[in-house]
This record gives sequence, structure tokens and C-alpha cells, in this order.
Amino acid sequence: MLLTITTTHSPATDLGFLLHKHPDKLQTFTLPYGQAHVFYPEACSEKCTAALLLDIDSVGLVRRYRGQSSESFSLAEYVNDRPYAASSFLSVAIARVFGSALAGKCKDRPELLDTPIPLTAKLSTLPCRGGEHFLRHLFEPLQYTVHAKRHILDSQFPDWGNSRYFSVTLDATRRLSELLTHLYVLIPVLDDEKHYWVDEAEIEKLLRHGDAWLSDHPEQETIVNRYLKHQRRLTRQAFSQLSDTGVEPDEDKQNEEETQIEEHIGLNEIRLSKTAEVIKDFGAKRVLDLGCGEGKLIRILLAEKQFEEIVGMDVSHSNLIKVKQRLHYDRLPEKKKERLTLFQGSLCYRDKRLEGYDAAAVIEVIEHLDSSRLSAFERVLFEYTCPDMIVLTTPNVEYNIKFENLPSGRFRHKDHRFEWTRLEFETWANEVSNRFGYKVAFHPIGENDEVVGSPTQMAVFKRKNLD
Ligand code: SAH
Repeated sequence: MLLTITTTHSPATDLGFLLHKHPDKLQTFTLPYGQAHVFYPEACSEKCTAALLLDIDSVGLVRRYRGQSSESFSLAEYVNDRPYAASSFLSVAIARVFGSALAGKCKDRPELLDTPIPLTAKLSTLPCRGGEHFLRHLFEPLQYTVHAKRHILDSQFPDWGNSRYFSVTLDATRRLSELLTHLYVLIPVLDDEKHYWVDEAEIEKLLRHGDAWLSDHPEQETIVNRYLKHQRRLTRQAFSQLSDTGVEPDEDKQNEEETQIEEHIGLNEIRLSKTAEVIKDFGAKRVLDLGCGEGKLIRILLAEKQFEEIVGMDVSHSNLIKVKQRLHYDRLPEKKKERLTLFQGSLCYRDKRLEGYDAAAVIEVIEHLDSSRLSAFERVLFEYTCPDMIVLTTPNVEYNIKFENLPSGRFRHKDHRFEWTRLEFETWANEVSNRFGYKVAFHPIGENDEVVGSPTQMAVFKRKNLD
């Protein structure tokens, strides 16, 4: 069973630092089911490949775990794909051999960790229950380019048709830890099998490794079911924890924290009323609030009769419940209820429900997205959703020094993946406007300090072809 990881990042041998494995060495690790060898078939500054070769001791496995298997025929313990196919054994090896890289640690070159680099992972034999279609459905939403070559069952007997095994190549520009995490979770999912006992500890592993991507993955349900071996007791727990993601358990506290930091200047109110005003002046009737949070903007929009249809979308299910609570939804007059639609969704996936609206508000959301998901977000918002106008706000990091209660160097919220300077924001906004046929204007929100600017920066995008 062979996994190779290649990069053409310059210098490519940085891969050795990221994997904590020296390119000049062959290293061997003893695992409960055999041995794992790590070596570099090529290592120069233009291109570097690390190989993880698993040598499964299939006879030892049978001896050690005899009687625990639920194989369907008596020789199945001996005659099976374990030595050859990528499976949960490979995931265990990744965790054991590349543990630090998987956890996103790099003592010697920490700056490398956050850098997305061009990566190619090759799996020589990957069982894909659900076929190529399912394989693509797992990796393409995570922005991989997938190449898959299916193997026939037996080359001597072509009539027997295809096997479930593929040689698979995955290409993406990502952080190495993300690639390893995706492989770690999704290989056993594709195999739909786990060669070890599955219990509560697996939920924790799944949620930890799936933290940044599972809650809004379109195949989330199948991933959870398969990863937890279809055990209802475990999958139920996992789903209930996942429905809260996007919002961590102590998110309420964190939200409060951000509100407190900005509160004394009443920033949230200024931001939301300015947003509503800009959308109203534009003449919009059908409006999206994307990443609507607990629905503060929705409440303002509902009070304005001009807005005939208001859609609130958020990745967090529990936030949508809070929207309903805040609005006392059950007691709202029917006419107001009819104007409002709420649903769960992610801004990183194309969603037909969002198409055809006049305006969209994306208020304090973009900084919650991983930088590696920004390009997906841009296409979803500007290319597919493409409302006539978009109001988007984000913190201006330059202003942070003026918040006395914010320690220096810290973002305003623990979940913020970045906070941009005015130049960074404006460069980004101008670039996406050009690319997708919008024009953009910028508005400072809150006090506009001569040196550091305003606490919130707002961009208002309008589709060019409206003129
Ligand atoms: N717009 C609201 C909430 C801002 S907090 C307000 O101004 O009050 C950021 C919100 O974005 C959270 O509710 C979070 O759940 C949501 N969010 C984060 N990632 C998202 C994604 N990929 N798609 C949709 N919503 C997302």
C-alpha cells in the first residue's frame, strides 16, 4: 500500500520540514499491524516526493485478532485486500508517522505551516465503495482536482468487469496538514470499513480532524455514518455536535467578547443600520442575509416594508434557532412570516436557493472563512449567487490598537481566521470586482481615525451590467 505526496513549492525540500522526516533518510516504524517505511523517491529544490509504504503483516494480524473478525467466509481472514489497499490502516499510519504534520505543527519552520503549497497525493490502490462519483463528491468540494483510474477485477478475466479499486491522484494548493486531515478521515470512509474497534473516541477524532471542513461538506451525512461504522448511537452524538459547528460550544461567550470589544462605540448598530440603509436606497426588494448569525440584521429588514422577501442563511443550525427565538417567530404576524425564509447553508458551496436576488448582505462573515476557502466563496457569491448588489463588511485590523480591552496582536474574535488592513481589503475587493463584473465603493463605518481608519470597513458592490 503506497501513498506519495509531492510538492513543487520552492524549495520543494521544505516538505521534509513539514513532515518532520529528513529527505535523505529511509525510516521504518513498527505499527501494531506491520511496518511503515518513509522515504523520498525524489528530493530536489524543484520537486520533492515523500512516500509512505505500508507493509502489512497479514498473517500476524490474523493470529493476533483471531475471532474478532466478522468476515463472511472462513478464508477471508487470509484472503483479503488488507496488504494492498488503502484503508483505515493507512489512516493509523498517517497519524503515527506524520502525527506532527497532521496536527499542523512544525517546530523548525513554523512559517511554512500556514502557507498553502501545491500538493499532489497519489494513492496506488484506493477502494471506493460508491465508485468514482462518490470519490469526486468527497474531494472536489474540498477543492481537489481528482484523477481516478479504475482497475478491472482480474486482467486475465476481463469479463468479470471492474473492481472497486482505483489509482487516485489528488491535486490542490493547500496546507499540508489539511491534505493529511482529509486523507485521514476520507480513506476509511471510501473503504466503508474500519479494521479496529469503533467507540466514542472515534467521534472525537472525527470532529477534531473534520473541524474546519466537515460541518459544511455536502456529503457530511455519509462521511459521519461511514466513519462511525453506521453505529446509530455514535452517529447521533456526532450529528448533534456537528449541528453546532461554525459555532463552538463556547461561541456564545466569544460572540459576547467581540460585542463587548466593539460595544462601547455601538459599532454593531451603526454597521447594521448602515447596511439596511444602503440596501434600501438601492431599491432592493428581495434580500439575502448571508451568515446571518442570530438575525440582528433580519430584524431591521423585517421592519421595512420595502423588503418583500428576506432570506437568512447561516452555516450554523443553532444560530438559525436563535434567530427564531429572537424574533419570537411563532408569534409573528403571518404576513411577516411569509416574507422570511431561513435555511442552513454554506457560502463555500454553490447553492441554487440563493440565485436571483436583488441584494445580499455579508456582514462580518468573510473573516470567519479559512483563507483557503476564499476562492470558493468568491465564486459562490459573485459568480453563482450574483445579486445586483452586495454589502460586505469586515474588521479593519489597523483600528485594533484603539480597543483598550483588546490585547495587542489579537484578533477581535477567536474564530477570526484573518483581519485585513484597508489596503488588503480594498485590493481583494477591487480584484474580485474586476474578475466578476462588479464595481465597488468603500465606506468607513464608525469613527474614521486619521491614522488607522474606521473600525469596520464596508464594500458595496454593484453589478456593472445594470447601468
Ligand atoms: N452577520 C451576522 C453574524 C456575524 S458572525 C452579524 O453581523 O451579526 C459570522 C457568522 O457567519 C456566524 O453566524 C457563522 O456561523 C457564519 N458563518 C461562518 N462560516 C460560514 C459559511 N461558510 N457559510 C455561511 N455562514 C457562515
